[in-house]
Amino acid sequence: MIKLDHIAVLIAVAAIAALSLWPLSGHGEGEHEEEHGDAGGQGEEHGNAGGQGEEHAAAGGEAVHWSYAGAEGPEHWGDLSPDFAACKTGRMQSPIDIAAGASGLAVGPPGHDFAYREAPLSILHNGHTVQLNYAPGSTMSIQGHQYELLQFHFHAPSEHTVGGQAFPMEAHFVHQDSHGGLAVVGLLIEEGGAANAALADAWAHLPAHESAEQTVTDVSVDAAAILPADGRYHHYKGSLTTPPCSEGVRWFVLSQPITMSAAQIKKFEAAAAPNARPVQPLNSRLLISPN
Ligand SMILES: [Zn+2]
Repeated sequence: MIKLDHIAVLIAVAAIAALSLWPLSGHGEGEHEEEHGDAGGQGEEHGNAGGQGEEHAAAGGEAVHWSYAGAEGPEHWGDLSPDFAACKTGRMQSPIDIAAGASGLAVGPPGHDFAYREAPLSILHNGHTVQLNYAPGSTMSIQGHQYELLQFHFHAPSEHTVGGQAFPMEAHFVHQDSHGGLAVVGLLIEEGGAANAALADAWAHLPAHESAEQTVTDVSVDAAAILPADGRYHHYKGSLTTPPCSEGVRWFVLSQPITMSAAQIKKFEAAAAPNARPVQPLNSRLLISPN
């Protein structure tokens, strides 16, 4: 006879399996169509390395303007365009607050592997954030699924919060699999004494205003050197944090923050802050946290 606690374990295992396998079992199905059928691909989390600026210009000739304050701010994104409806009606939106005590089910970290390599520095300011496009060939394997690193960019303050507290900044490493599925690694950034050496070259070329992509061939950036030593993460199913707020994005928010100097943070803030969407309700989603 099956005891009650066995049933609870079975349910928990099934829930983990469902979350872990997604989107492995869903290629080409509804969720992915939704994710990639949206117009423009203007979200910062949307990939297309090297194409951000062009996409703005080419999106049917009518890129809808949005911002982080006022009449075009986050509370109104869903009303600015029918393409942005998910910003208002979505039930699996990002970012979220990561409860200090780790809500949901505590599990060990699933197997993952970052195989990033150095790439030429290619940097742009798209009007919402500073983004570094990444040359092909850097991958992340997570739960047996491989994604390619397309770009990373920054938010100030952080978009994900921990126990209600925001960090000064957050980096988003945007990955895409061969089917177009997106996975974003969120990296919380706190202020430390020393400058972040792995980002020093990029910061020396940080655009102060909206500007086209600039590739500096004699300067390289090493995404692997930016990652913290501890690879454990919080995992949940979410969305782009910018319009069109498309859902179907797998989020991995690393538990260990990295540090940047006050001067580095201030330089980014002067260029692009504030550019954080407020946290969204978790609703019925699972947040899987390391134990
Ligand atoms: Zn982002």
